[in-house]
Amino acid sequence: MEWTEERVETLKGLWTKGYSARQIAERLGGVTRNAVIGKAHRMGLSSRPSPIKREKPAAPAVKERSCQWPVGHPGSDEFHFCGQSAEAGRPYCPKHCAVAYRRPSSNENAA
Ligand SMILES: [Zn+2]
Repeated sequence: MEWTEERVETLKGLWTKGYSARQIAERLGGVTRNAVIGKAHRMGLSSRPSPIKREKPAAPAVKERSCQWPVGHPGSDEFHFCGQSAEAGRPYCPKHCAVAYRRPSSNENAA
């Protein structure tokens, strides 16, 4: 069977109304549920809420190993992150760790 313009329109209409792929296949006739799904995907129809919850793949836990210290004013063109190599287990480079984790009561003469 062919995807004529009319059938495509029917598919699109039923799909956006929330009909299941199986129901659409039955309406169109001569087409399988999988073909309906495949066609819908190729047409770029947004997937609808499915009763089957799909687990989203977890975002890869790639930890930036560069300094996340903000430099400049957020929103300005100059704004960027430091980007130096961060200290192990810290989000900042040694220089910015010294700033971020500086204790107000630290005794500078102790070093
Ligand atoms: Zn830094």
